[in-house]
Amino acid sequence: MIADNLLQILKELPQGVRLVAVSKFHPNEAIEEAYRAGQRIFGESKVQEMGTKHDSLPKDIEWHFIGHLQTNKVKYIVPYVSLIHGIDSYRLLEEVNKHAVKAGRTVNCLLQLHIAQEETKFGFSFQECRDMLDEGQWKSLDHVRVCGLMGMASNTDRTEQVRKEFRSLADFFHEAKDKWFADMPCFKELSMGMTHDYHEAIAAGSTLVRIGTRIFGERQY
Ligand SMILES: *Cc1c(COP(=O)(O)O)cnc(C)c1O
Repeated sequence: MIADNLLQILKELPQGVRLVAVSKFHPNEAIEEAYRAGQRIFGESKVQEMGTKHDSLPKDIEWHFIGHLQTNKVKYIVPYVSLIHGIDSYRLLEEVNKHAVKAGRTVNCLLQLHIAQEETKFGFSFQECRDMLDEGQWKSLDHVRVCGLMGMASNTDRTEQVRKEFRSLADFFHEAKDKWFADMPCFKELSMGMTHDYHEAIAAGSTLVRIGTRIFGERQY
């Protein structure tokens, strides 16, 4: 069933849109089933859970960290993580860089923007992000690679609101690309869209959709 769900989604994705299979709270067996169906990118939101899964599952899996990352836990994921979606402060980016130097690797990151109406979600405001990018200090962090932006839309049935939020992030992506990343081909990812809103996200220009429930079923918390 997991394999069927996965293949159905993959059939719907246009060229240039990749799938992050969000496996948080699901056991290794579920991930293995998706793996056998060809999926290699998995998303997790807890540092320890991702570590345990990384240790026990095939080494060619690309682990994406999609949760809220605390600075004191950065060191546990830096050695192997393939993309960190939720960079929401300069301090966190600096911390990732520090541990990346120690680990002898360059870590791919996305800047998270707060586009939803809910206060509970994380991320830079557009202005905070502009200020950080303008300030320029981030350019000296040579063991992190800023590959694009990430955002979560409001959790609402009002599709127009969701579309508006995704478009605002896509607009900001183009602004950032032109202003700060024009000479950086690695800045190309726009991570947006989950089970209930990935069609709207793709229409607005998403390149990475993060889908859990539609593949693995409801999570047991
Ligand atoms: C859990 C989670 C998802 C996946 O949500 P589904 O509704 O199960 O598809 C996507 N992105 C983030 C940041 C998440 O925490």
